[in-house]
Amino acid sequence: MAGTLYVCATPIGNLEDITFRVINCLKSVDIIAAEDTRNSIKLLNHFDIHTPMTAYHEFNKYDKAKALVNDMLNGKNVAIITDAGTPCISDPGEELVHQAAEAGITITSLPGPAAAITALTISALPTRRFAFEAFLPTEKADKKERARILEELRTETRTMILYEAPHKLKATLKDLSKTLGDDRRISLCRELTKKHEEAIRITIGEAVAKYETEDPRGEYVLVIEGRDPSDIAAESEANWNEMPLEEHMEHYLKQGLSEKDAMKAVAKDRGVSKRDIYTQLKT
Ligand code: SAM
Repeated sequence: MAGTLYVCATPIGNLEDITFRVINCLKSVDIIAAEDTRNSIKLLNHFDIHTPMTAYHEFNKYDKAKALVNDMLNGKNVAIITDAGTPCISDPGEELVHQAAEAGITITSLPGPAAAITALTISALPTRRFAFEAFLPTEKADKKERARILEELRTETRTMILYEAPHKLKATLKDLSKTLGDDRRISLCRELTKKHEEAIRITIGEAVAKYETEDPRGEYVLVIEGRDPSDIAAESEANWNEMPLEEHMEHYLKQGLSEKDAMKAVAKDRGVSKRDIYTQLKT
């Protein structure tokens, strides 16, 4: 019988944030696939876990996942852990889960900490709807893609969550200020679950100013206020109003709308009544 893949969440700082279930699972599986075995050995020693570990990371993930899937097909149970938090969230876990699923292996997740959710809960920003954006591509790796995503975020109305390394924080805050403006609220959540945990609740402009005079320290999650939907409506209304009325009508007629329905749609876009559109067209 094939083995199972256990996706095990581990602490993001505070060692007490591990579940009984994860400890028992790590003790009982045949192999632990760890992102950094030198890092994970501290966790395993702390909880008296002696299961053999194998390195599974960004640079060997395709081949190593293949080998681990073979082990599972041969009946071995495998647990995956990463450097911190929930595997597959901005770390190499995804490939192993993908290959295991393709091979028809049973996969189960043992939930626990994830920095994104931990930060969101103390951000004091709306939590009902949010968009997890992970790490932005760096300027060096993909300048165009970074600009494209930032532009997409400009109109995002949900609360946004970004991961960022301390040495890249200043550049990211400057880019956020350029695209989203200085007034949006942002919670800079650092050192979560650790001794110096902090949620700095300020505006983007204030965050840029703060880090002009100090260096970011520790790991950060940025939680950013989404755009006010009424702002977007006002912006698109302004854009439509710049278009000549006939062209605006044509835009809908070309899509097959009747003249009456096109007038209705145009009136809605421009934030005026249908009668206004009718009068303007007939004069
Ligand atoms: N899999 C992890 C999770 O579940 O959150 C994320 C791994 S990702 C490679 C690492 C990033 O997560 C860091 O650069 C930082 O943005 C965020 N992070 C992890 N631990 C953190 C902590 N204790 N405080 C703040 N941010 C943290």
